Amino acid sequence: MSLFYKSTRNSENQVSASQAILKGLSDDGGLFVPSEFPKLQLSLTDISKMSYKETAYEVMKLFLNDFTEEELKNCIENAYDSKFDTENICELVNVGDVNYLELYHGATIAFKDMALSILPHLLTTSAKKNNIQNKIVILTATSGDTGKAAMAGFADVPGTEIIVFYPKGGVSRVQEKQMLSQTGANTHVVGITGNFDDAQTGVKEMFNNKDLEERLLSKGIQFSSANSINIGRLVPQVVYYVFAYSRLIKEGRIQDGDKVNFVVPTGNFGNILAAFYAKQLGVPVNKLICASNENKVLFDFFETGIYDRMRDFILTTSPSMDILISSNLERLIYLLTGEDSSVTADMMNSLKANGKYELKPEMKAGLADFIGGWSNEERVAKEIHDVYENEKYVMDTHTAVASAVYHDYKAKTGDDTVTVIASTASPYKFATAVMGAIDPKYVGVDDFKLIDELNKVAGITIPKAVDGLLEAPVLHNTVCETADMQKTVEGILGL
Ligand SMILES: *Cc1c(COP(=O)(O)O)cnc(C)c1O
Repeated sequence: MSLFYKSTRNSENQVSASQAILKGLSDDGGLFVPSEFPKLQLSLTDISKMSYKETAYEVMKLFLNDFTEEELKNCIENAYDSKFDTENICELVNVGDVNYLELYHGATIAFKDMALSILPHLLTTSAKKNNIQNKIVILTATSGDTGKAAMAGFADVPGTEIIVFYPKGGVSRVQEKQMLSQTGANTHVVGITGNFDDAQTGVKEMFNNKDLEERLLSKGIQFSSANSINIGRLVPQVVYYVFAYSRLIKEGRIQDGDKVNFVVPTGNFGNILAAFYAKQLGVPVNKLICASNENKVLFDFFETGIYDRMRDFILTTSPSMDILISSNLERLIYLLTGEDSSVTADMMNSLKANGKYELKPEMKAGLADFIGGWSNEERVAKEIHDVYENEKYVMDTHTAVASAVYHDYKAKTGDDTVTVIASTASPYKFATAVMGAIDPKYVGVDDFKLIDELNKVAGITIPKAVDGLLEAPVLHNTVCETADMQKTVEGILGL
């Protein structure tokens, strides 16, 4: 098959799948996108008889076409194992009128584990395939969950080093402690004085700094990314949308061919883009519902066709969605332009220079698959409360944003299409906000104090990821000004 990857900002920049994974970001600042969308080779009914790992192979082989069968199966075996607390890897749970796709059964109890448990294997395999001898340094910006999941994946992986930047004060107590207690001699965590967008921008600037690149190369080092700009993050995420659809068939909730809605709590637009890619593969989709918190830049974009990040950054109880620059949207924009990389580059330059861009009228038709929605903090808390009261199901704050958006959408439109809501984190990760929503007597009580209470209320075993976390020693304490991110990296790498 002839599929390759090209940059959204210069279609002439073309690489293989393994090279795209190694590079993370194209030299021109663009993101790598597949040159075409493959189709599933088996029917979804056939796939419904498969395990998660078998489904992963069926889907990923279509995108990672320069991996041998043995290489890819090896990566899958090493990723989806007992690090997950369920043999199914993810669970589809029917609650009331919807199905929650619980993607948080991995080591760090957020959906980021679904991709970050396989990325290190894809990356080291890619390095081997391309005869790369350099040490690979993973530079990552995190809004709370990517950092921990990436470090858990890369800890002590030979030939790699990982540096994570997170907004100091912009993540939950559990999220922060998870990162600061990370073991592994090759892991580094840095708090910055800015927000997530500042961290992401700083990381992208280091990727695009040619002088820095040369100095690294002379020391036998090259950068790669564990953020969802890396195609090696996106491809593994397509798998669970195919898997979810096939489970609905298996459970008799739909017939093969019926359309479904996917509702996704969105920040960087990676997870929902994976659902869109699943649709391109042949999964029958009615609507992709993009749910935002009060940082509703995507909702406004879907309403108006104008992407405008010039607004206040709001800290919410769903910090992993506190994002104003949704990097992966660039991959959708590229498709909307008819794969015109110079128009895409102009729009992204406008975002950088003026903080906004606008779709041309003819591009808007391409948004028909999507519906934007958003929920404020009060509505999110009510959703957690109501679903718990009515169904005894406890969800985290991010999932609740999506759940609230869905229930509001359904009330407004009457759309009763079978619906899957991506459940992106365990409630244990955000115990304060979750318990405070369930019962006001818990408002403001520390995350860690509420873990046992949550256990009583939710009746689900305390995950390994939080058990003993409070007592775990702090191993990282670096904090820097946003402007000093590069200096900090140079210090860590001894440049
Ligand atoms: C990262 C994250 C999101 C947002 O996902 P994107 O791919 O960035 O849109 C939502 N919920 C949780 C819990 C996350 O960790």
